[in-house]
Amino acid sequence: MKTTTADLALGAAERLYGVSDFYDAESLLTDDERRVLARLRDFLERDAKPLLAGYWERGEFPEQLTEPLIHLNLMEPAELTVHGPARGIYQGFRIFELARTDASLATWYTAQAGLFRTTIRVGASPRQQQEWMPRVLDFSLKGVFSLTEPESGSDIAGGLSTTARQEGDSWVLDGAKRWIGGASTADVLAVFARDAADGQVKAFLVDCQAPGVSLEKISGKTSLRMMQNAHITLDGVRVPEAMRLHNVNSFKDVAAMLRAMRSDVAWIATGMQAGAFEAALAYVNERRQFGRSLGSFQLVQEKLARMLGNLTASLSLVVRLTEQQERGIYRDQDSALAKMQTSLHMRQTVALAREVVGGNGITLDTGVARFHADAEAVYSYEGTHDINALIIGRALTGESAFTR
Ligand code: FAD
Repeated sequence: MKTTTADLALGAAERLYGVSDFYDAESLLTDDERRVLARLRDFLERDAKPLLAGYWERGEFPEQLTEPLIHLNLMEPAELTVHGPARGIYQGFRIFELARTDASLATWYTAQAGLFRTTIRVGASPRQQQEWMPRVLDFSLKGVFSLTEPESGSDIAGGLSTTARQEGDSWVLDGAKRWIGGASTADVLAVFARDAADGQVKAFLVDCQAPGVSLEKISGKTSLRMMQNAHITLDGVRVPEAMRLHNVNSFKDVAAMLRAMRSDVAWIATGMQAGAFEAALAYVNERRQFGRSLGSFQLVQEKLARMLGNLTASLSLVVRLTEQQERGIYRDQDSALAKMQTSLHMRQTVALAREVVGGNGITLDTGVARFHADAEAVYSYEGTHDINALIIGRALTGESAFTR
């Protein structure tokens, strides 16, 4: 009897991820968590998927999706938070589900639920958190993470040159930020600047409408075309002391944020592999050449096996990293390893997916072209391959190969 894709997945009928989750990581989720993820799945399939190719081609973000996505209340859903915050494994699969559909949607959601939320969780004082966190969770305070600068990406720790000067009860910020995702629709920018007095990095919530703030869209991108990234200029921008994040007093505090954020990107890189793999598998089972389905050829099957191997290794990695983080274990090298390795897998998986779809794989029809192009941005943001490798190398040898 012929084995089908559906047979390969244990209990496929009740499972959300089927063959993409070969070793059944989904079994770590509770039924309530799976129900919330199924709600997200319905929304993505019905409302988001039909829009993706057009918006990607035009380089625009489908703004009409943001309010319904916010109303799904995915960050801390009521049914999952009766006894405390939503679990890490649920948060991971939420990113996986978004990225399996589209990398820009996952990046947009994670800018608030990961980057900005972590900035407030790690950087704000308990009193500030009390005031801001509820508004972060319900998106009534939308914020973005503004660290990278035009002249400093990988070397931002030493190179950060935006300045903050204290004048009485307020601060004056001057400088520029680059690549900031979601800035055009945010309320505040979480800006990292060097205190002119002590040379240490501090953080501020800057009102996007404040005098002296100007945003310019970065256009002409060939990757993550739907996601809007901004070049930001800060020219004598006044920020009250109350809007300084009181727990950020040096770059070490920023590094603590990055440790937590990188695991989210590893989940994005994993989800994208699932999306590309599923699209490729459906295509090769359908398309016929030489009188047979593409999926019946040995060379195509080898590529499917490699894609699944990459995806399964990535999913195993992020699940284990998340379990460690749930135990409170956060080390630079752990999230760096996950980001580096899942991104390597992702790059190969999306290339193989594109390849088995042939010429149609460079059109927006099947989804593989979108994943293939978007992978390049994900490969580079939140620490490039090299920088994450050097973080791991430093942990292994005790020698820092990249600091100034
Ligand atoms: P560079 O630092 O100039 O590096 C260029 C190349 O040189 C890379 O291959 C790098 O690995 C290599 N390299 C650099 N130093 C070394 C070294 N010591 N040894 C070996 N190789 C090295 N930033 C934010 O703050 N907020 C955001 O929301 C945000 N969103 C982004 C979204 C997108 C789509 C992109 C592309 C970027 C985003 N970034 C954001 C910035 C991102 O984090 C940086 O692009 C990234 O850190 C790399 O910096 P860079 O692009 O300046 O590259």
